[in-house]
Amino acid sequence: MIISSDEGADTQGWQASSQHDVQFYESDDFLAERVGAFIGAGLGAGDGAIVIATKEHRKQIERRLDAEGARPSAARLERRYVALDADETLARFMVDGSPDPKRFARVIGRLIRATAQRAGQTPRHVWVFGEMVALLWQEGNPGAAIRLEELWNELQDAHDPFSLCCAYPMRAFAGEEQRNAFIAICERHGRAIPAESYATLATPAERERAITLLQQRASSLEAEIAERRQIEAQLREMEARKDAFIVMASHELKTPVTSLKAFTQILQRRLASQTDPRTLAMLVRMETQLERLISLIGDLLDVSRMQSGILTYRDSSFDFDAMVRETVRDMQAVATAHTIQMEGESGTRVYGDRDRLSQALANLVANAIKYSPDAPTIFVRLGNIAEPGGGLVEVAVRDHGVGIAERHQAHIFERFYQADDERGGTYAGLGIGLFVAHQFVERHGGRLWVESREGEGSTFHMVLPCVRGEMMASPVEKAREGVS
Ligand code: ADP
Repeated sequence: MIISSDEGADTQGWQASSQHDVQFYESDDFLAERVGAFIGAGLGAGDGAIVIATKEHRKQIERRLDAEGARPSAARLERRYVALDADETLARFMVDGSPDPKRFARVIGRLIRATAQRAGQTPRHVWVFGEMVALLWQEGNPGAAIRLEELWNELQDAHDPFSLCCAYPMRAFAGEEQRNAFIAICERHGRAIPAESYATLATPAERERAITLLQQRASSLEAEIAERRQIEAQLREMEARKDAFIVMASHELKTPVTSLKAFTQILQRRLASQTDPRTLAMLVRMETQLERLISLIGDLLDVSRMQSGILTYRDSSFDFDAMVRETVRDMQAVATAHTIQMEGESGTRVYGDRDRLSQALANLVANAIKYSPDAPTIFVRLGNIAEPGGGLVEVAVRDHGVGIAERHQAHIFERFYQADDERGGTYAGLGIGLFVAHQFVERHGGRLWVESREGEGSTFHMVLPCVRGEMMASPVEKAREGVS
């Protein structure tokens, strides 16, 4: 069946004039039916027709044309009908992700003129169906799709009249954020034809009912969106209040805990000569716990500051190996059951916040200790990777502890993430140590990642860029200098 303009002219009629319609669709069957009717109207009237579509759609449309007796193969032989691949045609005028106006006018203008041409007679009218715009849209390039719609309009203004129809799947516009883009597409067309759930309704009464239903749905959706926005705003406010509370609470905790630590150290010194070793050992353990508490409070404060964007860094160029050695020494001083073994050196300077990078490393070492209760040696290896125009420094922290199951590995750097432990072991924590370390390393243009096998242990790699042109002499060079 070929739909002519007198059958429901507002939604169904195709006209042999310079019109630019857009057809929305839900199923490919409906698309084929509508395009079949559009192109069929042209071929049936002895006009020219062009289909620029995907392979699958071309096949479906031609099947439809055959079924309606529009005989596309015969029309092709008469050079009245051309079917082209949408991707290949796009490639002929797209430049850097955007349709090039001159190329578009040349490629498509020539195509339409060739199809319109009749030896010795006035050119025939041409009907064009194209879905290159929809492909651009679905590729996530709506700007190019809208631009291409405009180029089609410009071509229609500059050219002999041709009928033009494009089509978009309705699902491409799902979501409130698509609303403005959807309006932009409709505005660039003479007619926007609704998808089948509306367009196939036969009587005016049915259509009125459908519109009423849609209006109801739209107003309840709008109410829902308004409600959601309000809830989001409340959540944001609560989140901000929670962050402010954590900042305040950590601040309040930090002062007394820091002075407790100082008093413990004084006590240790005073009692060193007079007390039995067991009391001293308890004081040492007290200091270890206080140290852990101070570091946790520091991390908590940093997380909150990161969230509110007020974390500041104090950058300078510093000797990376010295920082690592110092951090390891401090950790070793409070580690009662583990030995931290240093390997290698990098001989490199890094530009950044020394204290924060030291904190990142300390968090890795603290985890290595915490998650390897039965493997008392932790390895910290330094090295560097030479690269033209810079170079990288690497520090790796290896333990032979419980390891991390693969499914957790991608998440452990997230805020508040803690891998649950199926083996039943309990490891206290807040799930922020790795988050903080990762943020610090990324902030310095570096990378932090883990290699781990459950039950075998983990290696955390931290890689940072070295100071350009300030690479210190490597151990080998130092040795050479010593010889000469
Ligand atoms: P937590 O306070 O829970 O230790 P982190 O952010 O430091 O928080 O680490 C996140 C999770 O990553 C931990 O809960 C733990 O499951 C896992 N993890 C971190 N380091 C190691 C490690 N060296 N060995 C095994 N698991 C680790």
